Amino acid sequence: MELGIAGRRALVCASSKGLGKGCALALAAEGVHVTMNGRTAGTLEAAAAEARALASGEVRTVCCDITTEAGRAEALSVAGEIDILVNNAGGPPPGDFREWGREEWLAALNANMLTPIELIRASVDGMCARGFGRIVNITSSSVKSPIPTLGLSNGARAGLTGFVAGVARQVANRGVTINGILPGPFDTDRLRQGIRYIAEQAGRDFDTEFEERKKTNPAGRYGSPEEFGALCAFLCSAHAGYINGQNIVIDGGNYPGTL
Ligand code: NAP
Repeated sequence: MELGIAGRRALVCASSKGLGKGCALALAAEGVHVTMNGRTAGTLEAAAAEARALASGEVRTVCCDITTEAGRAEALSVAGEIDILVNNAGGPPPGDFREWGREEWLAALNANMLTPIELIRASVDGMCARGFGRIVNITSSSVKSPIPTLGLSNGARAGLTGFVAGVARQVANRGVTINGILPGPFDTDRLRQGIRYIAEQAGRDFDTEFEERKKTNPAGRYGSPEEFGALCAFLCSAHAGYINGQNIVIDGGNYPGTL
């Protein structure tokens, strides 16, 4: 399917690895001019080289911490007038809620709620003025179904989702959509770190835990960043203008609800 977004301009935050990279590659393959981001120059440039091999558009990189004000300003300046914004950042650490004080909460809120809100605030009016915009927030299946070890993530992402639910309805008549993608388990560094934590807590070895958890998913496997990127690219496409304010779970059927 031709997605109708060739020549559009995108900023994909935290896209040197994992789910963000899946999104950047999928958009690059559609001819979108993509700005990729991460904090580690080597990983970022390697991911950008992969994107350039697929791209007919331009691929730029901005090596910065997207959760800082300076990082966001640099990213927006490198990306230029964007039509597509994919919000993403590293997730908060796992742990027991009794261990988290104000500092830990502020860090989680900053990375996973306030950073995407700031980037939406900085870019959405330009999209409205130009009559086209696609904003996708990478959140987590924990928005629908909390993950006990990831309380910081459960809280911060729910806050972002609540805010976005309101804004999405305020910009839809200007050709701008804002949606969340809620990943279940995808095979990335982040997933492996989480499983390592759970295995250590339970006194089990990583490989056994990794394989056992895979079997508990109805699909019998973890998702891939490519599958994730394909959904993101569709939500950013010309065809998805009537999908707005939604939170789309992509998890192999792991969430057990009928709706
Ligand atoms: P990942 O494989 O660890 O990749 C994270 C990417 O973000 C890397 O490119 C990393 O590069 C970059 N990054 C992290 N913090 C950054 C920052 N402050 N500024 C700029 N770049 C930053 O993680 P992932 O699995 O793709 O996860 C992406 C998001 O989805 C996370 O918030 C995660 O919690 C959430 N999620 C993932 C899953 C899953 O199963 N994978 C499930 C639910 C939710 P540098 O470290 O070099 O900056």
